[in-house]
Amino acid sequence: MSRMLSHDVAVDLGTANTLVAIDGRGVVINEPSVVATNKKTNQVIAIGKDAKLMVGRTPKSIIAMQPLVDGVVSDYEVTEHMLRNFVDRLHRVHRVLFQRPRMIVGLPCGVTEVEKRAVEEAAKSSGARRVYLIEEPVAAAIGTGVDVLGERGSMIVDIGGGTTEIAVIANGSPVMTKSVRIAGDEMNDAIRQFVREEYGLQIGERTAEDIKTTIGIVGGNNKSRSMSIRGRNVVNGLPQEIEVTSDMVKGTIGKQLRPIIESVKGVLDETPPELISDIMQDGIHMAGGGSLIVGIDRLLRSETHIDVNMPKNALTAVVEGASIALANPMQYRSSLIYTE
Ligand code: ADP
Ligand code: MG
Repeated sequence: MSRMLSHDVAVDLGTANTLVAIDGRGVVINEPSVVATNKKTNQVIAIGKDAKLMVGRTPKSIIAMQPLVDGVVSDYEVTEHMLRNFVDRLHRVHRVLFQRPRMIVGLPCGVTEVEKRAVEEAAKSSGARRVYLIEEPVAAAIGTGVDVLGERGSMIVDIGGGTTEIAVIANGSPVMTKSVRIAGDEMNDAIRQFVREEYGLQIGERTAEDIKTTIGIVGGNNKSRSMSIRGRNVVNGLPQEIEVTSDMVKGTIGKQLRPIIESVKGVLDETPPELISDIMQDGIHMAGGGSLIVGIDRLLRSETHIDVNMPKNALTAVVEGASIALANPMQYRSSLIYTE
């Protein structure tokens, strides 16, 4: 290889998952935002998938942590370490050749300057020459194929791990935004608590997430499915296996969705009439892993009386949209946040 190719790199630093996309190649890294470290030596033991497998299974000296909380950097050093590891993998594993790429990173709306700076610094120290930022709902909208650049208003609801971001976008940027601190992780917690209270079974975080993603449903008219789960009986302390069905956990998941639905209604309530008319015609656009709950589209439609569009790429929309914006910076200048 005589020539170093210049690649652009897009990053979605999510609370639950971090994704990296390369222009022309699409998503090449998609891993949980989890880092396992040895508490005694401060050494990083595993990053991403391997680290998530350790959650709830590690000896006390090893902690598996999520360096992003509610979409913002909560532990700078660990975030930086994770990002640098992913960027290194682009060279080592994916054979992407580049020197100091341009990098775009998604940010929740309404973050502080300090939080913004933390992301920018982490991107720079992972090797980026130039860093661009983009608000996540805008990236999600672009990634799901919404035309954000026109004056028509579009509504996007991105249900992630830690937060749900609701935004109305027009002319390339958000007109209204609302962030709700309820999303996929709260559903897991609620399922865990429900199984404990209702069936006297103590289950792990990952088992709760398994229930949600495998048989979780909300609303009516969805076929109930079942699966067997294992945990510890809280009365006698012995291992126990039980069968759970979609119907059993439906109410629990539905309850977590309540504040999300109310917030969507609240944003619609404050949106200027012209934009509402656009949204009514085009429908609400969903994104994020939490939007994959079966039945959520029908539930939201019946609550808002507006159509709901489910994307094919709920989990990758943000990074794909960010990648598109970085590839066309002039066209998307109203969506990009330029850093020094
Ligand atoms: P973030 O942007 O915060 O990292 P993601 O958009 O990656 O979040 O979504 C992660 C959330 O989506 C997690 O809570 C995960 O459990 C949930 N999730 C993933 N797949 C499904 C599914 N099939 N059904 C329901 N929830 C899902
Ligand atoms: Mg996200």
